[in-house]
Amino acid sequence: MTAERPEVEAAALPHEGANVQPAHTIVIVGAGQAGGWAAQTLRNEGFAGQIVLIGDEAHPPHERPPLSKAVLSGAAAPESTRLMKPEAFDALAVHWRPGVQVRRIDRAARQVLLSDGAVQPYDKLILCTGGRARRLAVPGADQVPLHTLRTLEDAQALAPALRPGRSVVVVGGGWIGLEVAATARQQGAEVVVVETQSRLCERTVPAEVSAYLLALHRAQGVRVLLGAGVRGFARAADDHLEVLLADGSALACDTIVLGVGLVPNDDLARAAGLACDGGVRVDAQCRTSDPHILAAGDVAVAPNPWAGRSLRLESWQNAQEQGMAAARSALGQAVDYQPLPWFWSDQYGMNLQIYGMPTPAHRVVQRGDPASGSFVLFYLAGDVVQAAVGANAARDLRFARRLIELRKPVDAERLADLGTPMAKL
Ligand SMILES: Cc1cc2nc3c(=O)[nH]c(=O)nc-3n(C[C@H](O)[C@H](O)[C@H](O)COP(=O)(O)OP(=O)(O)OC[C@H]3O[C@@H](n4cnc5c(N)ncnc54)[C@H](O)[C@@H]3O)c2cc1C
Repeated sequence: MTAERPEVEAAALPHEGANVQPAHTIVIVGAGQAGGWAAQTLRNEGFAGQIVLIGDEAHPPHERPPLSKAVLSGAAAPESTRLMKPEAFDALAVHWRPGVQVRRIDRAARQVLLSDGAVQPYDKLILCTGGRARRLAVPGADQVPLHTLRTLEDAQALAPALRPGRSVVVVGGGWIGLEVAATARQQGAEVVVVETQSRLCERTVPAEVSAYLLALHRAQGVRVLLGAGVRGFARAADDHLEVLLADGSALACDTIVLGVGLVPNDDLARAAGLACDGGVRVDAQCRTSDPHILAAGDVAVAPNPWAGRSLRLESWQNAQEQGMAAARSALGQAVDYQPLPWFWSDQYGMNLQIYGMPTPAHRVVQRGDPASGSFVLFYLAGDVVQAAVGANAARDLRFARRLIELRKPVDAERLADLGTPMAKL
């Protein structure tokens, strides 16, 4: 890491294909997880040119999953989220520009314009701009304090409110909302989760997993309201806050947290005329519609054969692997990034993992009993496992992943039988 501008070296690339132009300056926009991995991969692959890493946050690249878990509860220090040890980051000799925003991409001149007035030329540009927490445009939303959770500062602002004797309403029963609810509950706060859909995590998991999550939270004393729309926010006379529900009722509380999804930071790309569709469109080489610009992480919409469509993956795995793939692609290497989606969540000491894209159209085969605390649900098309969701079953899920990747027919009865080791399948 260095804040000084290093000499620009006209270095040859180690993996130049016949039709690939040497890139001497690779600019990465966004110093989050995908951007950090892109920078690290460029050096690991032997790129000796200039890497400019521009991030509007003050922090070096870090991981966000602990922000709703150990960092929020105070069990882990903010520094523990760093992607690399300070020495390792320094060793990359990246020209890191913290606290600087890229305001515009000039594709014709191949340069980006920065918030500090500087102009930064590039040979290749990698967009790793992630996303921001969605807000709610309802009456009162700009008159009461509303927490969201995306950054370290967000976690630090919310943490003190999660304690015994305090009440928290979490608006949104998706992953961030549920993890905040779990942490808040474990810190001793009273928690209500308000979800507008009829079940939890409706966008990402089938009904039986939603039901499991609902039972888990209710068993921990969280009040979960389903099918409950929020029509506004207000301040009550006694200094409490109020979440006003569509049915006319109101929930009084000390703290309100919004966990209502993510807005991809694709504004720069859209303004520059890059193809976007709820994020920056990329191909399996992480290339956008401009051959000199790539994208990775939460902001990128990519074709995914496992899902049978293009989609944005908001996950730790994708941020790392697509960041790496984009870096290799920028170096002219052959890249074919088509990941089997993998996501995990930790709530109350329960570790849930999802491989693939389970849908209601799949046949469900259950291994283990949710009441026992450990189980895997397999999602099959015919006799082939397409996806798996499991709780506290990391070992079985590793085998499940292999089964999905192999696309081999399996015997559903043996899959369901705890007496048959997964390795045998
Ligand atoms: C609280 C929380 C918990 C999570 N838990 C899990 C989990 O348990 N499991 C899991 O699989 N995933 C989890 N995730 C998701 C995972 O962390 C994200 O998918 C990952 O961080 C995405 O990385 P990214 O680099 O694409 O985006 P980010 O990490 O958001 O990085 C993007 C960076 O770009 C910066 N930026 C944007 N625009 C500009 C600009 N114009 N100029 C300069 N900089 C810019 C942003 O400020 C940001 O620093 C969680 C996410 C959050 C927020």
